[in-house]
Amino acid sequence: MTVIFKNGYIQIERLEPSPFAANAYILFCQSTGDSVLIDAPARPEMILQHLEGSTPRYILLTHTHADHLGALAELRSTLAIPTAVHHSEAGNLSLAPDLLLYHNDMLSFGKIMLRVLHTPGHTPGSICFLTGICLIAGDCIFPGGPGKTSSPAHFRQIVESIRKTILTLPDETIIYPGHGNSCTVKQVKKDFNAFSSQQHPPELYGNVLWLSK
Ligand SMILES: [Zn+2]
Ligand SMILES: [Zn+2]
Repeated sequence: MTVIFKNGYIQIERLEPSPFAANAYILFCQSTGDSVLIDAPARPEMILQHLEGSTPRYILLTHTHADHLGALAELRSTLAIPTAVHHSEAGNLSLAPDLLLYHNDMLSFGKIMLRVLHTPGHTPGSICFLTGICLIAGDCIFPGGPGKTSSPAHFRQIVESIRKTILTLPDETIIYPGHGNSCTVKQVKKDFNAFSSQQHPPELYGNVLWLSK
């Protein structure tokens, strides 16, 4: 576990439950002790341990790929709190979600507000959660490139999501992706602008880096 962000209002911890699974993020309201879990990749007992002492309010899912869901069934039955996912991916879950999310929805826990940003491309219902200067981004964007896409149309869609919805956030916004380490909007802007100034084959998709040679 790593405390990746902390101020007077919020503390954010990143858990990497297994080398093959995604990051889980836990956000804690510093004044009330309420918390939310974002993604439920693996090892539910370990995630529960980190939630101990707080009052969990939601399990939020950035999208419905299996590497983000391994601990979901057990965590939901143990915690008995609402599970929320973008409406377009509700049917992918083995359990019925309690709450369907839409672009620009606001969720609150304790004194913290989270804004839902719909950023399709990696999957149709990929969403990010924004609070202050912290963006929990799922597999939409990573340091160095966008999330993996499965067709040229999806690649164009993820680039559009990033351009319209992520790069319009303040430069100092910190992006916490579904795997690995964080980066900032400022860093991504620089790489993205270099990418955009080049010609690219129309069939580009898959694992793309902004600055591939
Ligand atoms: Zn993933
Ligand atoms: Zn994914």
